[in-house]
Amino acid sequence: MNFHILTLFPEMVTGGLNTSILGRAAQNGHIGLEAVNIRDFTKNKHKKVDDYPYGGGAGMLMQAQPVFDAFKSVEEKIISRGGKSPRVIYVTPQGKVFNQQMAQELAQEQDLVFLCGHYEGIDERVLQAVVTDYVSIGDYVLTGGELPAMVMIDAVSRLVPGVLKNEESAEFESFHDNLLEYPQYTRPEVWQGAEVPEVLLCGDHAKVDRWRLEQSEARTRERRPDLYELYARKGRALGYLQK
Ligand code: SAM
Repeated sequence: MNFHILTLFPEMVTGGLNTSILGRAAQNGHIGLEAVNIRDFTKNKHKKVDDYPYGGGAGMLMQAQPVFDAFKSVEEKIISRGGKSPRVIYVTPQGKVFNQQMAQELAQEQDLVFLCGHYEGIDERVLQAVVTDYVSIGDYVLTGGELPAMVMIDAVSRLVPGVLKNEESAEFESFHDNLLEYPQYTRPEVWQGAEVPEVLLCGDHAKVDRWRLEQSEARTRERRPDLYELYARKGRALGYLQK
């Protein structure tokens, strides 16, 4: 799977993503990471990419032309090697809030383009011309779209086959079935007087699984009642939960 990030700050994206698990995945060819500098596409002789908003107001806006040309260069590359015109995600506080289900859906794509805004955002006309999805990472405003794009690329990448090793599996963890993950422990058995729950040492896998499910349910009910309601609704419908 290939990620193409349109940004004014490519070094921020490549530096952040080319480390640890994603760095290894990129090296092994499980994912491709390409940061495209929008400034390289400006036709302005001073390399300017922003201007004042019509109608007045604070701040500067990224102009349509360099964004459009940067996108076109990526699209042409994808199509010339046999791909289809890609989905283009504009990361914006005005989008649908990103979650694990969206990450799973996006992980099915062959190519994804992320468009990162900066300053006060981007001229609406180019958004209408190229964007297919508007996605936010939460109800707060950041200075730029680079961190949101990196957050989403991280979440999507770990669902791409081969990116995680078996022992790092994404199969049973938070948000699977709308539950948060159960508490986990590693060595030593006693740390600062606190013991690992006895059930985890008994070697009875059925018992461990039952305990983990109970812990997941209790933790989700307490910390994320909104998620627990979704879990419980399905459970009641399928008959494995009474309340
Ligand atoms: N004026 C814009 C508004 O009120 O919606 C906010 C612009 S913000 C300062 C600059 C850029 O940061 C945006 O164009 C977007 O790409 C990115 N950004 C900021 N907050 C974000 C969020 N919560 N999720 C995704 N992207 C965000």
